[in-house]
Amino acid sequence: AKNTGKNKSLHYEPEHEKANAAAYIQLETELRKAIQEDQLTLYYQPRLELSTGQIICLEALVRWNHPVHGIIPPGEFIPLAEESGLILPLGEWVLRHACMQKKKWLEAGIINYQLAVNISPCQFQEHDFADKVIRVIDQMHIDPSFLEFEITESTIMHNMDKTVSILERLCDYGISISIDDFGIGYSSLSYLKHFPINCLKIDRSFVKNIHNNHSDLAITHAIIHLGHTLNLQVVAEGVEELSQLEILRETKCNTIQGYLLSPPISAQELELLIACKALSLRQDDEPREECS
Ligand code: C2E
Ligand code: MG
Ligand code: MG
Ligand code: MG
Repeated sequence: AKNTGKNKSLHYEPEHEKANAAAYIQLETELRKAIQEDQLTLYYQPRLELSTGQIICLEALVRWNHPVHGIIPPGEFIPLAEESGLILPLGEWVLRHACMQKKKWLEAGIINYQLAVNISPCQFQEHDFADKVIRVIDQMHIDPSFLEFEITESTIMHNMDKTVSILERLCDYGISISIDDFGIGYSSLSYLKHFPINCLKIDRSFVKNIHNNHSDLAITHAIIHLGHTLNLQVVAEGVEELSQLEILRETKCNTIQGYLLSPPISAQELELLIACKALSLRQDDEPREECS
């Protein structure tokens, strides 16, 4: 009796599959429209440099502001975008809008950090990916050294010859490259010798338990050491607790990202955060009138 529901759904599986296919096609249609009609939006998560206590970079993370369902996280539509090929226009939308926001902040003189953008392996498959990127950035009159691309080990392993030539072009142009989710990809480390890479981002699955798991601590430590030996910056992702931060400081990790500092937030919320920070710094400097 316990399994009735399950058996029933198994029995109707073919119809479910049809329903799934229909839902898939509908979602694809909606996502295509979302890209054209600017229903996408970028959130930003700050990256903090431990030696100075300063924010030095913002990671742009896309969300879908759906007219009915509200804010949808990327985990729910990036895989569909990759499967359907929509990741190409989506990726271009993200790059264009990240540059537009960067320009707005520069002109307002309020936020002057590096901007990190995630790039899907599919985008690297395009024969003219580097040309397209360079065209967009030139059009926007943005200094490419403000930009960092986050790629994963799977991007690198897919077609090493092609990837290295794309990365070299991007690097010559002035864009920095970081390896996202470092340590969980099934990949050889030899690429680190030959590829123009600036930064390793330790996957958050290692960071999660560094304060109470000896193996995770050992792996994190080893990645930091490897990075520094190769002259790379090292970022720890997913820092949620002070105890993790303390360990990362001791192990000389360069920068951190995570809920402890801030989750990804909208451009408007970020401006508020920066304004409050500037205000509190000013108040620390100046003797307060009420006190004197
Ligand atoms: P990612 O690039 O590794 O981004 C980090 C993810 O971890 C973000 O999820 C972020 O919200 C989350 N995170 C940050 N700090 C913490 C923390 O302290 N604890 C926990 N539990 N999570 C934390 P988000 O925004 O849902 O993005 C998920 C993934 O979607 C990203 O992983 C990236 O692979 C992909 N993605 C996001 N935006 C884009 C985009 O514009 N283009 C492409 N191609 N992929 C994107
Ligand atoms: Mg990332
Ligand atoms: Mg990551
Ligand atoms: Mg990830």
